[in-house]
Amino acid sequence: MIELDRVSYTYPGATTPIFRQLSLHIAPGEFLLICGPSGAGKSTLLRLLNGLIPHFYGGTFGGRVRVWGRDTLTHQPRDLADLIGFVVQDPESQFVVERVEDEIVFAMENLGVPTPVMRRRVEEVLDQLAIAHLRHRHVATLSGGEQQRVAIAAALAAQPRALVLDEPTSQLDPHGAEEVLTALQKLNADLGITIILCEHRLERVVQYADRILYLTPNGQYEVGTPREVLSRIE
Ligand code: ADP
Ligand code: ADP
Repeated sequence: MIELDRVSYTYPGATTPIFRQLSLHIAPGEFLLICGPSGAGKSTLLRLLNGLIPHFYGGTFGGRVRVWGRDTLTHQPRDLADLIGFVVQDPESQFVVERVEDEIVFAMENLGVPTPVMRRRVEEVLDQLAIAHLRHRHVATLSGGEQQRVAIAAALAAQPRALVLDEPTSQLDPHGAEEVLTALQKLNADLGITIILCEHRLERVVQYADRILYLTPNGQYEVGTPREVLSRIE
């Protein structure tokens, strides 16, 4: 369960807040799509969920964000890593080692996972993302969709309850986008993992979402089922 209660936020030096009194509860197992035009605050909202805001961005934060009961004001992003896995927009820039398999191992090493458990989890996540055949490949030689799936596998290896993804398909062709979205849908359906992703091209993702949060650049928002939100914004 992720709860945002009357959240307001202004970046350091900015004159107007991005959010005023934003309230939203995200249920375990939900697939939530955050959409809205460029600059509406999609990336900012993801940073509020994983604690990067307020801890690393500063600014003026009000209200409350709780992730399975942990208040992000009193918990650093690393204290939330077992609950929330974060996947950035351009995973290639964040890969730290060369081989796919080593990238997934690296994600677990910092968490102090014992070696035998780590080996088993590598097999599990390679299988869950349908990338076992890529295990020995260098990440730089993969397609965009394959790289996204490696980044998702690495995040999943920490066994989070939710995955938060920043525009995971925006740099992919339609085939790559479908590979990534069906992989996320499967994690959601089979493992009950909460999926929260933002995307400015709503039409690509809408069919996968349980609910949509639609942000507008003036700080307003609409939340509801895809049908409800689409009827209100069109
Ligand atoms: P979106 O992801 O919907 O494109 P963002 O959350 O990236 O929107 O940005 C929302 C607004 O906040 C924009 O006006 C953007 O310029 C501003 N912004 C984003 N990051 C920062 C930052 N680090 N410092 C100041 N302003 C920022
Ligand atoms: P993305 O849209 O890829 O998530 P960012 O969230 O970093 O990228 O940036 C979104 C917008 O916020 C961009 O227009 C960017 O120029 C602006 N922005 C990012 N960092 C700052 C900052 N420190 N100060 C002002 N604007 C920023």
